[in-house]
Amino acid sequence: MTSAPAAAASSSRTVARGPSDAETLRRNRILSSKLYFDVPPNKVPVIYSDSYNIAFLGIQKLHPFDSSKWGRICQFLMQDGVLDKIRIVEPLEASKDDLLVVHSELYLRSLESSINVSIIIEVPPVALLPNCLVQKKVLVPFRKQVGGSILAAKLAVERGWAINVGGGFHHCSADRGGGFCAYADITLCIQYAFVRLNISRVMILDLDAHQGNGHERDFSNDSRVYILDMYNCEIFPCDYEAKRYIDQKVELKSGTKTKDYLDKLDSALKVAKDVFDPELVIYNAGTDILDGDPLGQMKISPDGVTHRDEMVFRFAQDKKTPILMLTSGGYMKSSARVIADSIANLSTKSLIDLCSPQ
Ligand SMILES: [Zn+2]
Repeated sequence: MTSAPAAAASSSRTVARGPSDAETLRRNRILSSKLYFDVPPNKVPVIYSDSYNIAFLGIQKLHPFDSSKWGRICQFLMQDGVLDKIRIVEPLEASKDDLLVVHSELYLRSLESSINVSIIIEVPPVALLPNCLVQKKVLVPFRKQVGGSILAAKLAVERGWAINVGGGFHHCSADRGGGFCAYADITLCIQYAFVRLNISRVMILDLDAHQGNGHERDFSNDSRVYILDMYNCEIFPCDYEAKRYIDQKVELKSGTKTKDYLDKLDSALKVAKDVFDPELVIYNAGTDILDGDPLGQMKISPDGVTHRDEMVFRFAQDKKTPILMLTSGGYMKSSARVIADSIANLSTKSLIDLCSPQ
């Protein structure tokens, strides 16, 4: 597939010439969006909705992924007494106008085809379903998660941190979906933050097992965004063009073990700390690095994931920079438990506060 230029590069191109019509339209769409809303103080910045989960007609059995992962993470947190249900923030679903901030009409129309959606989520039988069903059962959950990722930036800036128990669709760029990613939530989140939060420096720490080629293509030559991507270079997507846009690339091999992984992360964070001073950190915390994950093919232990997340939150704390976390890839049955345990550890270590004033 070739990449049509379209909206992907417009943000950087328009800077020198002053706002174009397209840039003004984008800005107005962002300013009139309802996705940023005021969250009452009795809530904590953990964002989730039951409608994140994809389960219908046995689709969860056709797919290697646990498509109810997001709900199970919250269930574990509630069962373990780590998080109260009433404190969770429910986001709004991203509307068409919200999505047009980054995506083109043409791209959004392509998602009205069940065939195209089936290719993106890699479940061939979905191609046989009527579009209205696919919209309701697959794309609405994704759009709700996109709303969560966008809102997470506002909450992170207000409260110091935020976790969207979903999102992290890092293979989708403005004009191309793929690898289970239909919408470019990271790009959208950053574009909203630029306009609504008056931010001009964002660091993406992408530690999912796969290369984050979607946001890399979208911020190809945008010096406002620093990308540290640490991934298994032997697996999908092997996007060589997108690799050119990574500021700090840490390429790993299949079978990488926990100690080696954490040592490399430690070194990479030290470099990032010195070269870029972000106003917001976006942490794409995929758990497909876990030992046994059929897609990630690495050998990181559950404790290694906990340690990794702690290192990243400590990095943001040391830099006094707001951080938002997206759960991204990792759909083994065990992933939800590992993520819940890691969030609990962040709370135990006082890197996040899951209690709020009554
Ligand atoms: Zn992944």
